[in-house]
Amino acid sequence: MEDRKIRVRFAPSPTGGLHLGGVRTVLYNYLFARQQQGTFVLRIEDTDQSRYVPGAEEYIYKCLAWCGLLPDESPLKPGAYGPYRQSERKPLYLKYAEQLIARQQAYYAFDTAEELDKMRSYFKTEENPSPQYDRHTRMNMKNSLVLTEAETQQLIHSNTPYVIRIKMPENEIISFTDMVHGEVSFNSSLVDDKVLLKADGMPTYHLAVVVDDFLMKITHAFRGEEWLSSAPVHILLWKYLFGLEWMPQWAHLPLILGPHGKLSKRDGAKYGFPVFAMNWTDPKTNELTEGFYEKGFLPEAFINQLAVLGWNDGSEQELFDINELIAKFSLDRVHTSGAKFDFEKAKWFNQEWIKKLSVSQLRIPIKQIFEDKGIAIQDEDAFDSIIELVKDRCTLLPDFYIQASYFFKKPEQWDVASVKPKWNLEKSEFFNALIKKMNDLPHWEMHEIENIFKSLATEKNIKAGELQLPFRVMLVGGKFGPAVFMIAEKIGKDETIGRVSAALNIFNA
Ligand code: GLU
Repeated sequence: MEDRKIRVRFAPSPTGGLHLGGVRTVLYNYLFARQQQGTFVLRIEDTDQSRYVPGAEEYIYKCLAWCGLLPDESPLKPGAYGPYRQSERKPLYLKYAEQLIARQQAYYAFDTAEELDKMRSYFKTEENPSPQYDRHTRMNMKNSLVLTEAETQQLIHSNTPYVIRIKMPENEIISFTDMVHGEVSFNSSLVDDKVLLKADGMPTYHLAVVVDDFLMKITHAFRGEEWLSSAPVHILLWKYLFGLEWMPQWAHLPLILGPHGKLSKRDGAKYGFPVFAMNWTDPKTNELTEGFYEKGFLPEAFINQLAVLGWNDGSEQELFDINELIAKFSLDRVHTSGAKFDFEKAKWFNQEWIKKLSVSQLRIPIKQIFEDKGIAIQDEDAFDSIIELVKDRCTLLPDFYIQASYFFKKPEQWDVASVKPKWNLEKSEFFNALIKKMNDLPHWEMHEIENIFKSLATEKNIKAGELQLPFRVMLVGGKFGPAVFMIAEKIGKDETIGRVSAALNIFNA
């Protein structure tokens, strides 16, 4: 291949949510492009109109923006190789399909859906339960290999719907070197005559991907392993249309596995973890599939766990920021076998990233969670100090709300069950007395609060330790949170007294 500037592409079909595997493909493309000072292209593969889902393309942009993996060229940011949406490139493909026909590497096929069904049931045997349109069957079908030139032209001119199919050669060994899997070979006899151009004039993925990778000067194509079986068709198309010296280098990335085989959307719903980057609601069924963003993942953690799902740098290191990934990523360290997704491990990454990031980096997403729950944050410095205080107790971002909302509003409910078994009149009297003492306290400060609390406990002859749990539950709602006297200081005198009184009524009831 001549020396060319590195250009890679992510080529999603806008058919639904962006799956973990899809984001990992984006990530590896992005890392490689950044590392090689190349260009990362986003091409929307929307030629299958029957699978097009409104909103899916906008959703992809949103996900890439959240992940921080923005393309250099895309439908939103066209470069010199547009359009970047395949449906807008429709007129480009016909001439390539016709060129294949002229060289007898492809043919017109006029078979109706019923005729195709008939062929499948006619050729069905025990050894071959799903016969294909291939060298065994093609000469029994209605296509330009069987019909005369005049018959073919007559059908085309009378507007009979047709497709163009590749004519797979017999017994040719088609091989290439995959950047992940090494040498891979296929026997062309085992591959069917794939449709290249559909009756609506749109190319199929197979034709479009080859033509566009060529026209967009793509040098490396990373895609999911599910496309490996299509490689022989693509290689032949490259050979027939463009000669092989221009073909991009391919890397077929290993599958991401769920608890049972390939990770699926259903696994997410079944086991309660997200499989998409962001929430996706299917506009047809209204079914919502959860996303990592809404679950409370930091993009840094999401990207980090995806990077190491199928790749490592050869050391024990697991935490990488994007710049380290750009520096260290290499395709020869991408695993060849599927990588198992482990939600607990994903959460561990998030926890580590919460520790790693500074409070000011965490503030924006956490503030958003509070605001979504109706708590407006006015004093950012005070908010930052609260984030710092509970940071070590949080795994997912909504944990910050659980761990810290009581700094801003009284608990929605009290964990009465944890107090009730040891609750008695003496304790109730202690808290009534405490209210008075707190009221008279001139300087509202944690050590002072602790002092009056402890001396009152001694006076009443109750162990302070036994009183701290109910005090904590009164202030925060449950048995959690940092030092209770500090919580009291932070929420203020009136609020502390108000919560103790309100909780007392409930504990005494
Ligand atoms: N449109 C294909 C997909 O959605 C792209 C495969 C490729 O990258 O070649 O998976």
